[in-house]
Amino acid sequence: MSVDAHNADALALLERIVNINSGTMNFAGVREVADVLRPQFDAIGFKTRWVDGTTFHRAGHLIAEHEGPGPKILLIGHLDTVFEPSSPFQRFERLDDSTARGPGIIDMKGGDVILLSALRAIKDIGQLTPMHVVVVLTGDEEDSGAPLEIARSALLADAQGAAAALGFEDGAGDPKTAVVARRGAGSWNLVTTGTPAHSSQIFKPEVGVGAVYEASRILTEFYTKLHTESYLTFNPGLALGGTLVKIDSSGTDGAASGKRNVVAQRMTVAGDLRTLSPEQLVKAKTAMQGIVAKHLPKTSAEISFDDGYPPMAPTAGNKKLLTMYDRVSRDLGTGPVVAVDPSRAGAADVSFVAKEVPMIIDGIGLSGHDDHTEKETADLRMLPSQTKRAAILLLRLNQAFPVQP
Ligand SMILES: [Zn+2]
Repeated sequence: MSVDAHNADALALLERIVNINSGTMNFAGVREVADVLRPQFDAIGFKTRWVDGTTFHRAGHLIAEHEGPGPKILLIGHLDTVFEPSSPFQRFERLDDSTARGPGIIDMKGGDVILLSALRAIKDIGQLTPMHVVVVLTGDEEDSGAPLEIARSALLADAQGAAAALGFEDGAGDPKTAVVARRGAGSWNLVTTGTPAHSSQIFKPEVGVGAVYEASRILTEFYTKLHTESYLTFNPGLALGGTLVKIDSSGTDGAASGKRNVVAQRMTVAGDLRTLSPEQLVKAKTAMQGIVAKHLPKTSAEISFDDGYPPMAPTAGNKKLLTMYDRVSRDLGTGPVVAVDPSRAGAADVSFVAKEVPMIIDGIGLSGHDDHTEKETADLRMLPSQTKRAAILLLRLNQAFPVQP
């Protein structure tokens, strides 16, 4: 198959783009990676465009579309990495015949090369013409731009009407697994207030208990009532209480002052919230609001939520797509593929299209280990086999529709 004939080219392309620093905030580097990939998509007959990221304070996104009459299939990758120019980890380094280390080599420049190589292989055998494929390579997956709705509006627009979406993240790093569900990742802010008074009067009806006890009541109830629910987690990561509390605009730094002999006037707590489905998110928020609303004497409390990355639930459609991928892998002689436990899969771009697209899998990029660290290493033997799996899945998806998820 054409994949093997082009494997040396694919490896060379991977080495070339790994050697371009594209930390999310290095806009020139993110664009440079796009500038290398764009002509490759043009060469196989895709229409390409650059979505400028000025409005969401990031580099931008590369979009490539091939508009055949077949069902629309969305392929998702990203151009950026977590390694900014200040990182000591900058270069592709061949370790032996089968492995190489490099920034973003599996997360996810390897996946970008796989999706491109799969499309080239399909083109080479003359099967691309009927296919409708949209490739979205975002420039800010690792540190998304704000406002998030604007940063992801191009991805969402291109997901409209798609029958299936494939994400080429490295997933669990194991070619025997793929991702059918990702927990969402949002945040919450709790603010409690109390009645300031001399501490000797605390617990008197007119003074009450103060802001710190109220916050601690709420956190304790969050824990005791909700911590055993599967796939639901919520972590208070920053808490400040006292008489005066200040938190800076980043939400990650602040200061508090107070005295032992003064009943606390204010406390703020910042936390995250991870859920497996939109239903679980709504249920968790309702339960948390119910706990917040009760109030100890002479206190009040408010909680606000920011949904952030939406959950991608393990739907029947996603599982059906995994079954197709598993079948492809078995037919190629590369063995079965099973779903990753969602508690091991973090939020990713594919989550944004979970509501729009009936069948999604992710984590079918280049396998390896230690992404987001200076030990990020790829198993290069997986480059041709993952490419073949992606190519055959795309061909079968194109033929399979209409499929009821
Ligand atoms: Zn990634």
